[in-house]
Amino acid sequence: MAYDVIVVGGGNAAMCAALSAREQGARVLVLEKAPETWRGGNGFFTAGGFRFAFKSFEEVCDLVGDLSDEEKASMDVPLYTEDAYYDDLMRVTEDLSDPDLALTLVRESQPTMKWMKAQGIRWIPMFGRQAYKVGGKFTFFGNLILEAVGGGPGLIDMEYESAKKAGIDVRFEAKAHRLHTDARGRVTGVEVKKPDGTTETVEANAVVLASGGFEANVEMRTRYLGPNWDLARVRGTPYNTGDGIRMALEIGAQPWGHWSGCHAVQWDYNAPWHGDRKVGDNFQKHSYPLGIIVNIHGERFVDEGADMRNYTYVKYGREVIKQPRRAAFQIFDKKTIDLCREEYRIREVTKAEANTLEELAQKLEIDVAGFVKTVDEFNASVMKEQKFNPAVKDGRGTRGLALPKTNWANAIDTPPYSGFAVTTGITFTFGGLHITDAGAVLDNEGRAIPGLFAGGELVGGIFYNNYPGGAGLMAGAVFGRIAGRSAARSAKA
Ligand SMILES: Cc1cc2nc3c(=O)[nH]c(=O)nc-3n(C[C@H](O)[C@H](O)[C@H](O)COP(=O)(O)OP(=O)(O)OC[C@H]3O[C@@H](n4cnc5c(N)ncnc54)[C@H](O)[C@@H]3O)c2cc1C
Repeated sequence: MAYDVIVVGGGNAAMCAALSAREQGARVLVLEKAPETWRGGNGFFTAGGFRFAFKSFEEVCDLVGDLSDEEKASMDVPLYTEDAYYDDLMRVTEDLSDPDLALTLVRESQPTMKWMKAQGIRWIPMFGRQAYKVGGKFTFFGNLILEAVGGGPGLIDMEYESAKKAGIDVRFEAKAHRLHTDARGRVTGVEVKKPDGTTETVEANAVVLASGGFEANVEMRTRYLGPNWDLARVRGTPYNTGDGIRMALEIGAQPWGHWSGCHAVQWDYNAPWHGDRKVGDNFQKHSYPLGIIVNIHGERFVDEGADMRNYTYVKYGREVIKQPRRAAFQIFDKKTIDLCREEYRIREVTKAEANTLEELAQKLEIDVAGFVKTVDEFNASVMKEQKFNPAVKDGRGTRGLALPKTNWANAIDTPPYSGFAVTTGITFTFGGLHITDAGAVLDNEGRAIPGLFAGGELVGGIFYNNYPGGAGLMAGAVFGRIAGRSAARSAKA
């Protein structure tokens, strides 16, 4: 047998699993369905932001390594303890996150960041996307502080570079198709389907599944997420079609977690059906807390300022698909447009600008009377006595509206007005496999399937309803690392 451990998938979770198994001395093969030009799965499309717990600013600085004194002095970083991370996870998932998996994610977050650093991954602060400059300092607002150097593409390059150095074999265009088991139910290898349609069986003592969710499978999306999810845009790779989940279920694995739930965001209305590697995540439109969001009738439908954006962007992405034509429009005026993130200034943006509200509504093809009424009522309700501060929950809300805006309310009264058309872009699905906190996949009777481990998006039970930004990569790294280590030990046992 040429390999001890096979890792299925080639994204962040898979590469962490492969590096971790190799560290234990295992001979490791990574099977990736996509061609090399698409390597990295959804991990490539990310900003590379990782959510981890830290109890001092020095711990953050240690992970970066080379921050100058001047840079350190320019940063205002609220501490993010393990308790705060756990509470955030439980709050946004309505207390449904599996406590063991949640605790493992939280407690292993910083150790895993350190381990990744030792594997060659470098970090920098997210000055641009996660901080506002207030009083001359970058104030980090959402407990998401570091990103990989070079964002998602940089993360993937560094992981593949480390894998190469470690002597891990990677095969592209190698679609894992079926798991082989012996008479005792132990996983003994993977059947691989090649582009020419032929199949081949690769044997190993243990397999780690890290092949993503089913967000790019239109049939599974409709079946599990419900009506209209067939019409969502896929934000990332077209290759995450639920194969790993299906293969595991076929040998008796237990489905687990929020199968009708997913991570979705507001995404440019004219974005392609799946991710574009040149545009990356810039079709997203995440500055809505600075403005208002309306539908084609000109009506608001969410509290844009309910919480810091990292804790609302996922559930609001899902609200958009419920609107007529699955469309929404983010509206800003001259006072706030310059505070919007860089993704609002890309060439591939669906936007209109006008000097009057009526003209803006006409250009965006939304109901003019409905829109003007909404904006007039909104403007009249703003609590002007509170000071606007986008870096904290400023309490500058609305008064008297049936649907309030809780923070960051500013009258939309200073032309030019800007409107951005968005629809729903799906990121990943929440339902998946049931694992132990050692990464072993459980069967329907709650027993570990010998030789089968999993990490990343295809694990169910961590995220329900909502998600704290930056927890996807972190969960993939934490559970990928654990699954790789467990697989290597099981392969040698
Ligand atoms: C646009 C965008 C932005 C994001 N931004 C962030 C962010 O900043 N921070 C964050 O924490 N999360 C972010 N996420 C979420 C994050 O990408 C995921 O949580 C994470 O990448 C999941 O890692 P994974 O390894 O499980 O899956 P992936 O990275 O998607 O990797 C799965 C891999 O499996 C391969 N595969 C599928 N089927 C098979 C098969 N049958 N055989 C072999 N290989 C197969 C796929 O080709 C793919 O390469 C973002 C996602 C997107 C789409």
